[in-house]
Amino acid sequence: MNNISSDYPAFLANPEKQIFIDGQWVAPLEGGFIPTHNPATGEVLAQLARGRAADVDRAVISARRAFEGPWSRFTPAQRQQVIMRFVELLERHYEELTMLESLDMGAPLHGRLRPAKGGFVQTLLYYASQARSIHGETIPNSLPGNVTTLILKAPVGVVGGIIPWNAPLFGQFNVIGPVLATGCTAVLKPAEDASLSVLRTAELLVEAGVPPGVVNVVTGLGSEAGAALAAHRDVNRVAFTGSTATGREIIKASAGNIKRLQLELGGKSPDIVFADADLERAVPGVAMGVYSNSGQICFAGTRVFVQRSIYEQFIDGLAAYGRSLKVGDPLAVGTQLGPLISQRQLDQVLGYVAKGPQEGAALVSGGKRLGGPLAGGYFVEPTVFGNVTNTMTIAREEIFGPVASVIPFDTADEALTLANATDYGLGSGVWSSNLGTVMKMVHGIQAGTVWVNCYGLLDPAVGFGGWKQSGYGWKGGTAQIEGYLAQKAAYIA
Ligand code: ADP
Repeated sequence: MNNISSDYPAFLANPEKQIFIDGQWVAPLEGGFIPTHNPATGEVLAQLARGRAADVDRAVISARRAFEGPWSRFTPAQRQQVIMRFVELLERHYEELTMLESLDMGAPLHGRLRPAKGGFVQTLLYYASQARSIHGETIPNSLPGNVTTLILKAPVGVVGGIIPWNAPLFGQFNVIGPVLATGCTAVLKPAEDASLSVLRTAELLVEAGVPPGVVNVVTGLGSEAGAALAAHRDVNRVAFTGSTATGREIIKASAGNIKRLQLELGGKSPDIVFADADLERAVPGVAMGVYSNSGQICFAGTRVFVQRSIYEQFIDGLAAYGRSLKVGDPLAVGTQLGPLISQRQLDQVLGYVAKGPQEGAALVSGGKRLGGPLAGGYFVEPTVFGNVTNTMTIAREEIFGPVASVIPFDTADEALTLANATDYGLGSGVWSSNLGTVMKMVHGIQAGTVWVNCYGLLDPAVGFGGWKQSGYGWKGGTAQIEGYLAQKAAYIA
């Protein structure tokens, strides 16, 4: 174990992490650990217990027991109160949790890209409000005789939450929130590259008064713990965020017991800039739509379509903006972009960067791994490719790194055709001052979200989701809550 600094959160004092079942830290049945690295230095940060199928089984049994036992007796008001107490704890432990996250996956700790405390709080307060808004219906029927017909809503049961590494702290709230609001219980499987903030959160939930067993966490490999959770016969629903390839595996695994699924998968989102856009806003907006979190965001707007009359000017602005971003130590004040998550991710991103020019794209700026004092970590310069066509690999495949592929277009119809020529449909952006153009794009783009003159805004009441191979099932809003509820009709004669 290298350099566990005394400034690090106390949670890392013992860097061997166990799994969290029924409110207790327990060793996995077969033992074993997986190292997790600090991506800024490449050093081992902690050892994660290697949970496997038998551990997932224990966690699901615990979740089922809590679902049928103590948790089922909580009134909606009590569930709301528990969420509110958790929000208080979250505010108190915000510095600790964000520090853990920065160490674990490299998100800059300071500066405007830091996950905002207010954003976390607002998200959970939304779910707290939902706890008391769930209700069935009385439906007038046309049956002979005196029959009353009701629609009842019940929590769906045990939910498997498979969490990605790119924003685990925030990502888990999109499962924990609806679970607590509806009265479900959960087994979470965080990603092997970044599990620490999820483990620490599980402890805080119990401290907030969530009964043991309501939220369990089993760390481990996707192919072992993740696959076991996705296939488990007593899990009623899986909420998954991750790659489209893994999403396909989850769909197959769900067939055994016909699980409900919510899948938020990959993307190659278009961000379309018209000549009449306010470029003072569009340049930084488009840039951060690509570079935020070092490009490791599923809805990153990495296919940048620019109207030909401003193409050169825009690409120069984008490259200059990228060069102005401070890439470096995630813990340092002023850092705007941290490292990529892992050597594997670094290799993937640099592989795509090499492929661009081979297929005829022009490397305008960036494209290199950073050396010097950053040589131990997985840092890549913000990168811009020009002369890109929509059929090149860098315009079709998800790179998951700070790489913008800039493609010229002439007309709005052409932009729409190009934007929609993809297997994905997650995010999209439009920059224009013309309402007609904006509305044409808002209606025409085949994606779960269209951001106009902005990018990446999210509100828990509105929600988010994918079209096409970006997945299905809405995350946020009342549509998400419905997904955690089973509906029942009652005919009472
Ligand atoms: P990436 O390839 O970028 O790591 P994944 O989609 O593979 O993205 O990972 C997202 C989450 O899915 C992680 O928690 C990972 O452990 C988990 N996972 C990976 N493979 C499987 C699988 N076959 N079944 C269930 N979960 C999996």
